[in-house]
Amino acid sequence: MRTIGHFIDGSETQGQSGEFQDVFNPATGEVQARVALAGAADLEAAVASAAAAQPQWAATNPQRRARVFFNFVALINQHMDELAVLLSAEHGKTVDDSKGDILRGLEVAEFVAGAPHLLKGEFTEGAGPGIDMYSMRQPVGIGAGITPFNFPAMIPLWMLSPAIAAGNAFILKPSERDPSVPVRLAQLALEAGLPKGILNVVHGGKPVVDAIIAHEQIGAISFVGSTPIARQVYAAAAQNGKRVQAFGGAKNHMVIMPDADLDKAVDALMGAGYGSAGERCMAVSVAVPVGEETADRIVAALKPRLEALKVGPATDAASEMGPVITRASQERIKTLISRGVEQGADLVVDGRGFSLQGYENGYFVGPTLFDRVTPEMDIYKEEIFGPVLSVVRPASYEDALQLVNDNPFGNGTAIFTRDGDAARNFASRVSIGMVGVNVPIPTPLAYHGFGGWKASAFGDLNQHGTDSIRFWTRTKTVTSRWPSGIKDGAEFQMPTMK
Ligand code: NAD
Repeated sequence: MRTIGHFIDGSETQGQSGEFQDVFNPATGEVQARVALAGAADLEAAVASAAAAQPQWAATNPQRRARVFFNFVALINQHMDELAVLLSAEHGKTVDDSKGDILRGLEVAEFVAGAPHLLKGEFTEGAGPGIDMYSMRQPVGIGAGITPFNFPAMIPLWMLSPAIAAGNAFILKPSERDPSVPVRLAQLALEAGLPKGILNVVHGGKPVVDAIIAHEQIGAISFVGSTPIARQVYAAAAQNGKRVQAFGGAKNHMVIMPDADLDKAVDALMGAGYGSAGERCMAVSVAVPVGEETADRIVAALKPRLEALKVGPATDAASEMGPVITRASQERIKTLISRGVEQGADLVVDGRGFSLQGYENGYFVGPTLFDRVTPEMDIYKEEIFGPVLSVVRPASYEDALQLVNDNPFGNGTAIFTRDGDAARNFASRVSIGMVGVNVPIPTPLAYHGFGGWKASAFGDLNQHGTDSIRFWTRTKTVTSRWPSGIKDGAEFQMPTMK
């Protein structure tokens, strides 16, 4: 049985706790590896290594630090196929989708190769008589990142890249469900020239997260995961005086106006609703066609597309959608589907009975479609995080907008229309952090910031973009006045005592 260790001080270690957890293959339900779980002593070792390495790294000029990212990007590209297969084996998503996961993280590593420019401070000459004022951005010291299972490459790279480029040491606590790729990334970073101790990986669940939150030497924490945990981590870390950003769950709506290109809207719903088995924080889980006729046409077009969707393991190149992450997740999703039926939604396509020969124990849920969902139903209120799309039928654009704005989550949303005025009005008035116009998953690129509103994010400053450099650095502002120097006081006679 393969064991996945922590990565501390430049090498893999099984740690000191003696505790391990199974890592499953979601397509078969079999245990494929076990991951070491960190105890307090393992976190302590990671922090000690980080603390020893960080001052030297911070003192390395920013351009040299950035050069490590050039190498890192090249190495990730070189190992793309290996990383994608490893990612799919633990997560279950298709290999092409895993490449997307890696690429969207890689883009942030590329972005921070320009960090020297972003780290420049500000300067005011003559802020007062003989006074200059300048500010500089200095690293926080040791930062930590706690990441979810659904993007085991992208989200660690979102965090570790700006943190490290800014001169911090970083401790990554990835999801214990798919821990291999984060370790592999740390190994590649070392090979790229990162000094040991600057990137450590510790595995585990709540106990090690609590230890990170309590650790005095960790100055900043970035969290991405579900809303209840994001809320807790945000509160506890803030209570301990740490800088913290915590990103949570989502319920993303896609509004389809009657004038939209309905074929394109249906394509968009298929990809955004069922890609990665709906396990994306930017997945569209609520379709909002405006008017009965639009809704009838969308539902009629979706039904055969769902029935034709190829569900299977990542090892089959023809698969378009894989299993969900755990048995518990599979059960939870099926229970929610049953509750949707009980609460009166129209179940158009039922994925509960899905089974695949040879993979009967895999955590598959077939693509599922509900029509005539209302905001009181559990399938509307809860983040299902599975391949289940709900259609809500508002009568007008204003009702659609109200629905989106009343939802407690605020991660992403989209409008499909040919009308510029409707699109512009929507983008301006909607209470959501990321908005797509005829783009179903409007995940911003590396040089813009990623972040939701309302219950989808707690704290300030987004992931990547210029915000990330601000998050991982502290501003120091210096006010300086020099007494008049030798230019005024040059004396040419022999110095004597005065
Ligand atoms: P999760 O909240 O269960 O776990 C996230 C991280 O927190 C993991 O590292 C996990 O080990 C740790 N954790 C779990 N329970 C904990 C506890 N009680 N105390 C402290 N730490 C704990 O989330 P998940 O199931 O891994 O990921 C899916 C969720 O993440 C979904 O809700 C999804 O919407 C969300 N997500 C959000 C974004 C975003 O940017 N907003 C991006 C990706 C995923």
